[in-house]
Amino acid sequence: MKEHIFFGLLLISLLGCKSDRSTEKMVHRVLQEAPLIDGHNDLLIHYIWCGECPRELDAYPLDTATSGHIDLPRLRKGGVGALLTNIFGRGRQMNEYLQGWDLIYRLAEKYPEDLQLTTSSKEVRQAMKEGRIGIIPSMEHTYHLVDDLGRLRTLYHLGLRSVILAYDTNNIADGAYDKPVHDGLSAYGKEMVLEMNRLGIIIDLSHITEKGMLDALEITTAPVIFSHANARALTDTQRNVSDKVLLKLKENGGVIMLTPVNYFTTQEAYDYFFVKMDSVRKVFDERYPDPDQMTDEEIERADEEWMAWESANPLPVVTVKDFADHFDYVKNLIGVDHIGIGSDFDGMTYLIEGMEDASAFPHILSELANRGWTESELKKVTQQNFLRVFEAVEQRAEELKRSTNPRTAKVPTQDVD
Ligand SMILES: [Zn+2]
Repeated sequence: MKEHIFFGLLLISLLGCKSDRSTEKMVHRVLQEAPLIDGHNDLLIHYIWCGECPRELDAYPLDTATSGHIDLPRLRKGGVGALLTNIFGRGRQMNEYLQGWDLIYRLAEKYPEDLQLTTSSKEVRQAMKEGRIGIIPSMEHTYHLVDDLGRLRTLYHLGLRSVILAYDTNNIADGAYDKPVHDGLSAYGKEMVLEMNRLGIIIDLSHITEKGMLDALEITTAPVIFSHANARALTDTQRNVSDKVLLKLKENGGVIMLTPVNYFTTQEAYDYFFVKMDSVRKVFDERYPDPDQMTDEEIERADEEWMAWESANPLPVVTVKDFADHFDYVKNLIGVDHIGIGSDFDGMTYLIEGMEDASAFPHILSELANRGWTESELKKVTQQNFLRVFEAVEQRAEELKRSTNPRTAKVPTQDVD
């Protein structure tokens, strides 16, 4: 009897190994045949906004291990084929913003074997076929697009292919964490959505309010994306996407690129940062209202108090399984054709366990495979759904460019923050 139990256990563990190996092989095949297109990253932060920034490309080389989430060896290990890369400057001035463009062009030139600036679905496919990682230029706000739509057109010519309409605070749309002033999209914001359709720029609805998402989905004539957001039904925050919006996204043919950001993945993590920690921070702010007036002793005491609070209230652990729950949820609600992955790497401090850097994409794919997701479903998630959207956006632009003139709306100055 004992032997039977022993052999039974052995058989189970051998089967376990076999299924682990076959899952691993399947995920490897998925990433070979359909390398992952990541919806969002902030790689440029290491040249523009770090402690020693601004700094040159040689001060943060990508061909060796970096201190951030992204470098070329880890992108390769993670099976990455293309990245929607956020282009930004040190400040809001256009000249500062253009320095971000200079950096991205120079990065692609510095690593010609590995990186390629790609501004069409065709170029993305070609780059991946030739073993390079495509960089699709994107923008995470619209500060630089105020004045008139000519700026949008100029940046399109530079290579801009995806734009988030506001970054948490109000701009041409109400920001997710601001007090709404436009009731969704401003009049100029609506014009911009239509001009993005005409040009062939992907509309990205991350970071704005639910009403803004619904407004944009109402008027766009091309599919949209959420480049980094999760399901609001599982983690209730404006940054995530409600069922109502997800159902509209399905009608629109767009994609939500789910994100491994700790506090958008579980309610416990969200409440930790935005309820529990916020209330403690308020107490500290009252006790120590002016840090400039504090003595060294007071600073030391405040640090100790803060660390004592943190060790008594540890950060909730969020796992790949929690992340996978968002994939299952969205798939059950609107289907696998509307799901991708957007990491937010290099823009985010609190990632989830098992998804800490660009080499970790196979982990979420393995978890999904273990939950019964098929090889063809995983390929949709890694690449095909996004490329379908990109192609539809390009095709719609071709039609509109033939039938309509460039829009000339100007923004009223009170329209932006
Ligand atoms: Zn973001």
